[in-house]
Amino acid sequence: MHKLSKHTILTIGILAGLIFGGVVGQVMFTAYGGNVPTAALEGFKFIGDTFFIGLLKMVLIPLVVSSVIVGVATIGDPSQLGRVGGWTVLYYLCTMVIAVVLGVFLVTTVAPGDPNRDGSGIGPEVIAKGEAAYGHEGELKRQRIEKKAEAGRHGVAGALWESFRNIAKQLIPANPIGAAAKGQILPVIAFSLILGIVLTSIGARGQPLIDVFRSLFAAIMKLVDWILWLAPMGVFCLVTWTVARLGGEELLRPLAKYMVVVVAGLLVHGLIVLPLVLWVFGRTNPYVFICQMREALMTAFGTDSSSATLPVTMECAEQLGGVSKKSAGFVLPLGATINMDGTALYEAVAVVFLFQCYGIELGTTELAVIVVTATLAAVGAAGIPSAGLVTMVIVVEAVNNSLGGDKTLPLAAVGIIIGVDRILDMCRTTVNVWGDAVGAKIITRIAPDPG
Ligand code: ASP
Repeated sequence: MHKLSKHTILTIGILAGLIFGGVVGQVMFTAYGGNVPTAALEGFKFIGDTFFIGLLKMVLIPLVVSSVIVGVATIGDPSQLGRVGGWTVLYYLCTMVIAVVLGVFLVTTVAPGDPNRDGSGIGPEVIAKGEAAYGHEGELKRQRIEKKAEAGRHGVAGALWESFRNIAKQLIPANPIGAAAKGQILPVIAFSLILGIVLTSIGARGQPLIDVFRSLFAAIMKLVDWILWLAPMGVFCLVTWTVARLGGEELLRPLAKYMVVVVAGLLVHGLIVLPLVLWVFGRTNPYVFICQMREALMTAFGTDSSSATLPVTMECAEQLGGVSKKSAGFVLPLGATINMDGTALYEAVAVVFLFQCYGIELGTTELAVIVVTATLAAVGAAGIPSAGLVTMVIVVEAVNNSLGGDKTLPLAAVGIIIGVDRILDMCRTTVNVWGDAVGAKIITRIAPDPG
């Protein structure tokens, strides 16, 4: 009998986890009339978080350190490193801006929040419910949202400055071990980059340590291989938890049009724009590459986190996708924290939608403010669940500021979309990870592995 490969078995398993999770979650939601006991919900979340996401997080820091150092050491030549870095950042920025512009175009054309369009917009009742929901959100989340909002109050310049400050501070970590202990990825990448360059520059004396990291990298990738077998169970638990909590209809109906716009934008970006970019610049059949990356994409969908998915993304990209070690070690870890096409698109759509709900007209200047600040806010979002929802308020406040204060969107408006955020987060995280993979494949052309 034909023997199924490991990757085929895993694909089937993860897909089954997604589908069964959806079904079981929906059955529970219906059986309990929307009030599934917290203990049951927490049980699913606990298992998914601890035995899948927890294990992925466990390998994250050693993986990032070893892969970046090995990646830089294999590139070696500083001028090639500069070229790779330059093209990578250019790729990140261009694709994110395209995503935001696409989002703005779709949401202004369809106008899902405009009640005058066809009478199906968001009425005062939904707005009031949303604001109340914001009031009931946990104190911690509200504080995080309000803190971010502060950054946007100084307009585009303020948002620019805040993003720059945020990134610059992370690029020069005062204590790299402390950053690693807190699980902060960007400072760890920055330090590993510098260490990799220095180790290469000291020649033979650097070689033993490079070999240590090479061996660590091989070991961690093997561990990822093992952890991946838990993906079907992890994805099942997390999806069950999401669906059982939110259920279908009641919550979704008034927001259906908004969700359709976000998902349509993500589909266009993920299935048309990025494939086109890959085809033109990477000379690769994009749809074959999507299939090769399938486990990473499904894991992103199930976990809601680019960072937690990173080990799987690296495994698929190198083992199946033909991405070079040099490229994967550099483009993927950086992309998991910086490059977020899906989040950028989502933030643009969500902000315009909320302004439409409150009947506040946005002019060309405000739309331009959205393009700039949504890109920055997506860069600033960490690769964890709901990060995009929190950094989105930077965009809201920047637009409020640009409107000059006669009409402003209250922060509590975020409550309208909080309820459906998890589902959209699953979709945008998938596009975020896909964008990273496409970038790594393109960069492979200028940084192939030797031999
Ligand atoms: N969850 C997303 C990610 O990890 C970030 C976001 O909330 O948009 O990529």
